Amino acid sequence: MKVVHVAFECAPIYKTGGLGDVVGSLPKELHKLDVATTVVMPGYKWIKRLPKLPDSQVEVFYVESKYFDVYNKRHDPRISAPKYAHFAFLVLEELKRRQITPDIIHCHDWHTGLIPLILKKHPDAFFEKTKTIITIHNISYQGKFLVTYLDTPETRQILSLFDGHQKRVSYLKEGIRYADYVTTVSPNHAREIRTGKVSFGFKTLIRGKRGRFIGILNGLDYTVWNPRHDRLITQNFTRNSVWSGKIENKRRLQHELGLEESADIPLFGFIARLSSQKGIDLLLPLLDAAAKKRLQVVILGKGERVYEKELKKYQTAEHRTWIAVKIGFDEKLAHRIYAGSDFFLIPSHYEPCGLTQMIAMAYGSLPIASAVGGLKDSIAEGKTGYIFEKVTSEELLEKIHLALHLWEDKAAYRQMVERAMRKDFSWKRSARKYLRLYRRVTQT
Ligand code: ADP
Repeated sequence: MKVVHVAFECAPIYKTGGLGDVVGSLPKELHKLDVATTVVMPGYKWIKRLPKLPDSQVEVFYVESKYFDVYNKRHDPRISAPKYAHFAFLVLEELKRRQITPDIIHCHDWHTGLIPLILKKHPDAFFEKTKTIITIHNISYQGKFLVTYLDTPETRQILSLFDGHQKRVSYLKEGIRYADYVTTVSPNHAREIRTGKVSFGFKTLIRGKRGRFIGILNGLDYTVWNPRHDRLITQNFTRNSVWSGKIENKRRLQHELGLEESADIPLFGFIARLSSQKGIDLLLPLLDAAAKKRLQVVILGKGERVYEKELKKYQTAEHRTWIAVKIGFDEKLAHRIYAGSDFFLIPSHYEPCGLTQMIAMAYGSLPIASAVGGLKDSIAEGKTGYIFEKVTSEELLEKIHLALHLWEDKAAYRQMVERAMRKDFSWKRSARKYLRLYRRVTQT
């Protein structure tokens, strides 16, 4: 079985969120199951190219385009549209150049959505036996553009594949429509999409896939996310040494961020892209009142300017003892927050899978999360964390109160942490599910 994964990011080479984590780890696990797996990604100018994913035989191919030299911080659609259309063509050219005929091209998110369209509408004998799968990591990002943006020398050829009257195109929609199979990253989120609870207008399209759509829970790469040998944290620890380990990590984190150094004060972590999805709007109204409580909050995030601005208000000296806000993408600090926090806040409005709850549990930090998407699939209420059904500030606050209560009962708290740390979200089980799916798709 030959499978090529295609994505715009792949950790540790380039990562902006959970997609990078998945593409950096699922192929490695598939490789262990004897799937000949490779990854194709853009050869951005600013990345350090690795020939293989770390600790694996999974090769990474980089394709070249002038569009990959531009960072496009503001997500200018005139740049993004041709960039990822060109990417789609380049991926297919690269595979042909290397004489690789995959059984499956596994596409991830909208950036790769034109690949199934090209293969279906412009059949190429070279890919005659190749099937396509697209995985939806975030259905709200649909890659919608004016078709006219594609009138460039590199991408003009795609225009003939659209129907003549079409003024706009959604890359994700095309991907879903023409892929042989569609997946998303948790069973609960698959239900949410199917029922229209969280489908961002794609309910009918997905229902039309009839039996060719499922949710497979993401896994966690424990070679990266493991307090036992994580080099980025202050002191390594296991379930047996969690108490001494966490106290030391917490003390150093408090010291580094200028918080009051104390093992007794419960520390709540929050790490996310600052987009409306992540529920920062639910957290913000609680922050002022939190000053009066005996707790600490550490927030690390980057994203929408409104949220960055609101959060920066907490960076003054008067706040410093109980709240630390860091704006930016900081992988090292993220590891230290997971290791040094006691609780971890994830009040997302929707969450296809979510990795931060799995990472938090692995590092003995109890997640407090909304009961959406993969959060619901991976956190057991009152056993490995807390989940709230109604996604409101009040419900979040209620669970924070429960957490503070638990904190006072050290035996119960420790029991819950140990239970959370025992959870195994390794890729093994999910990779087997993907392999089963690959077999099914290639046999049809
Ligand atoms: P999403 O893919 O929607 O961003 P996930 O929970 O699936 O959310 O994955 C988020 C990943 O990105 C985690 O590995 C998390 O630690 C990381 N991350 C998010 N924001 C930051 C940040 N500001 N700095 C460092 N890591 C971050």
